[in-house]
Amino acid sequence: MPALFFVDGHFHTADRAEPVVEAATGEPLGDGAVVTESDIDTAVAAARRALPEWRASSPDHRAAILIAMADALKARAKPTSELVSRENGMPIALSRGANGAFPPLLLRYYAQLVTETPVEEIRPSITGHTIVRREAVGVVAAIVPWNYPQALAAMKVAPALAAGCTVVLKASPETALDALAFAEAAVDAGLPAGVLNVVSGGPSVGACLVAHPGVDKVAFTGSTATGRLVAEICGRLMRPVTLELGGKSAAIILDDADLDATMRGLRNASFVNNGQTCHLSSRILAPRSRYDEIVDAVAALADGLAVGDPLDPATEIGPLVSSRQRDRVLDYITVGRDSGARLVAGGSVPKDQPRGWFVAPTVFADVENSDRLAREEIFGPVLTISGYDTDDEAIALANDTEFGLAGTVWSADVDRATTVARAVHTGTIGVNDYALDVRAPFGGVKASGLGRELGPEGLEAYRTLKSIYRTGPA
Ligand code: NAD
Repeated sequence: MPALFFVDGHFHTADRAEPVVEAATGEPLGDGAVVTESDIDTAVAAARRALPEWRASSPDHRAAILIAMADALKARAKPTSELVSRENGMPIALSRGANGAFPPLLLRYYAQLVTETPVEEIRPSITGHTIVRREAVGVVAAIVPWNYPQALAAMKVAPALAAGCTVVLKASPETALDALAFAEAAVDAGLPAGVLNVVSGGPSVGACLVAHPGVDKVAFTGSTATGRLVAEICGRLMRPVTLELGGKSAAIILDDADLDATMRGLRNASFVNNGQTCHLSSRILAPRSRYDEIVDAVAALADGLAVGDPLDPATEIGPLVSSRQRDRVLDYITVGRDSGARLVAGGSVPKDQPRGWFVAPTVFADVENSDRLAREEIFGPVLTISGYDTDDEAIALANDTEFGLAGTVWSADVDRATTVARAVHTGTIGVNDYALDVRAPFGGVKASGLGRELGPEGLEAYRTLKSIYRTGPA
């Protein structure tokens, strides 16, 4: 199968390709396209050509096509979610939701929202009245990482298309194959040529797209380091940008927490997708009055997780995406061992998983909040535990980070937990769970990003406001 990309309504064979490797085995899965600068020119030109008609089309027309795309993605949900699990190691039970069910759901959500949100409203003014108009921002460069490739692409493509923007979606090389599902769905749904273009490639392809003169807005999800580069370029170009970046979020366990329920919740909140999740509650803050009990419970949780084949529905922890990511995580484990922190679970490659890029769920206790392990995003199944004495100290520790994407608070008293949640400086936070809500804004503060996705705010990110002042009555 040649390495493909999708521009102007057609699939093209790339001049360059990179193997996409199966995370669980290290074996090649297929060839991913690495597009050239001239392919990016062609893709952006196609998106520009398609823009006037798509932008001028009615919300009802766009909504109908989005719903048809949702149906087309749903029809492919099984093979797409299996492909992602093979590409990046995501446990299939999670992938079925995140890569199978979620993108169609989101397309339907924005299809409905755009038909319910008026394009124009009239406001009385001193001299007459003003028409406040919401117009599509234009051609969008949407850049996504490999960890939730379909979900993160949908979080950009769905609101952008609904708003009347056209899109060049750039997938990561690690997940270049599944990205083509969006292109196939666009064809099936009758999306006009050029409205959605799908390319793949690494940093130089992304950088070329971000700086391209034909792009009106950048929507980026990825690491904080890359996000800073993207923000610098967009700042210079005065180009609107949404940045969904890294995190190092705290799980604050209050002293009245039901430990069994908390551990059931942390399975997901702290280990979801093998730790390759931006909103992971990876720093556990434990009250000193129950510290030993909590350390034992978190260690038992990590030791009890089912590690194995990501395509097995019983698997809770699959492999990491690549050997490079596995080595990076193992390096952090060495940093942890050298720091004087106490290793209480995991700490190595599981002996029964010699193939692929597995790391055993790992927990370090007695971690100082100033330690690298507590400050840097590891992006693997590695948790830290630090002690605190008062709720105020827990809040201060949670806030003592450069990031601010997520977090969780665990308590038998929901109101008490919510008071703590209000005091944490973060874009999102869960009480006794962490579950994204498509109707609510998602995003970060501080080094975790700029702007929001999901909810009505996610649609507004792709619209710009125009005020038309008129004299006289409306
Ligand atoms: P990354 O920053 O290396 O890459 C992300 C994307 O940017 C990829 O498509 C990559 O090819 C592209 N890219 C790389 N260099 C670029 C450049 N100079 N200009 C433009 N594009 C460039 O991140 P990653 O390792 O693929 O993903 C993991 C990171 O993503 C983690 O830090 C994680 O927290 C973050 N993430 C954030 C969210 C969120 O919503 N906040 C969601 C998922 C992942």
